[in-house]
Amino acid sequence: MIVSKLPNVGTTIFTTMSVLAAQHNAINLGQGFPDFHMSEELIALVDEAMRKGFNQYTHMNGYLPLRESIAEKVEFLYRTKINPDTQITVTPGGTYALYTALTTILQPGDEVIVFEPAYDSYIPAIEVNGAKAVAIQLTFPDYRIDWTEVKKRVTEKTRAIMINSPHNPTGSVLSAEDIAQLREIVKDTPIIIISDEVYEHLILDGYQHESILKHPDLLERSFVSFSFGKVYHCTGWKLGYSISSEFLMKEFRKIHQFNAFCCDTPKQVALAAFLKKKESYLELGPFLQKKRDYFQAGMAQTKLQPLPTRGSYFQIYSYKNLSDESEKDFAIHLTKDVGVATIPVSAFYQQEVNHLVLRFCFCKKDETLDAAIERLVKL
Ligand code: PMP
Ligand code: GLN
Repeated sequence: MIVSKLPNVGTTIFTTMSVLAAQHNAINLGQGFPDFHMSEELIALVDEAMRKGFNQYTHMNGYLPLRESIAEKVEFLYRTKINPDTQITVTPGGTYALYTALTTILQPGDEVIVFEPAYDSYIPAIEVNGAKAVAIQLTFPDYRIDWTEVKKRVTEKTRAIMINSPHNPTGSVLSAEDIAQLREIVKDTPIIIISDEVYEHLILDGYQHESILKHPDLLERSFVSFSFGKVYHCTGWKLGYSISSEFLMKEFRKIHQFNAFCCDTPKQVALAAFLKKKESYLELGPFLQKKRDYFQAGMAQTKLQPLPTRGSYFQIYSYKNLSDESEKDFAIHLTKDVGVATIPVSAFYQQEVNHLVLRFCFCKKDETLDAAIERLVKL
């Protein structure tokens, strides 16, 4: 009937594990979303916006006061001036921002370097555009980029390099030295950087977020993606934005205007005001740090061993003391028989890998974490 554009793609692991968790009444530490309430104040601002009549289409590039608030925040955090009129587009989520960036730049036959484990939308979004993903594995167990390998894999066809820091699923973060290596590789080439920074504020243990936005020379050739869902504990809002150079953003908007065209108006009106409160995003790192420390302290009673995590709201644990089953099988066993759902990290690789590790989302109420640990201690 039709030729599938993504013949090898099944249902995303997040949906698979969340459905399995619900079927078995398992505690869901798999899919990354908080199980506590978002800010009442932000909800009230949305309510107010709707009552004031902000319920029709807004500007296709995003409600201008929101783009101005984003530009202010970028200047405060990263010391870079961004033009809200020409360099920011509000999108229905970070995934859409990444997809649109790839669709903007890719021609059939182009190559895009991605690092595995790779967030599951990246490779399909490359392939649906007729391009090829060139996957390079991060080192194990510290999940770092081997830049010598990257240099070897760059070809005339390399159109983009995708980076993600803080990293999902591993929680690793890029250092200033990593960004220097990246700069060295892309200089004198037409390579575009696609930087997924949806966890920009979720930084732990005193590390710094090395945003591409700190580097105007790199931003000239980059699309940087963000998600309000991750920052304000409202993943269901599916609202985010992309920042780029004026030239690249003009092309991005050609695609965006015939896809979503514009995003949810009342939420943008609310966020324009809320973003002005710096504590609304600055408090996130310390809040998550407490959660991570709480979770790790409890998990120390189990036989699972933590791998280093420096950001995001994910923590990887090794089960090598317990089993040598595949990650997928062990994750299914934990969900069905122990009552705790996780994500097998192997789902983020194209090739078969089995490092005997699972991803746990610790962005949950303390009582949810306690209940999961109580079950995992029995392993
Ligand atoms: N990138 C990464 C690494 C993610 O973990 C997620 C999931 N939130 C996204 C992008 C997508 O964010 P959104 O839900 O805003 O599309
Ligand atoms: N980003 C979330 C995670 O990594 C899931 C988003 C989704 O389900 N597509 O768990």
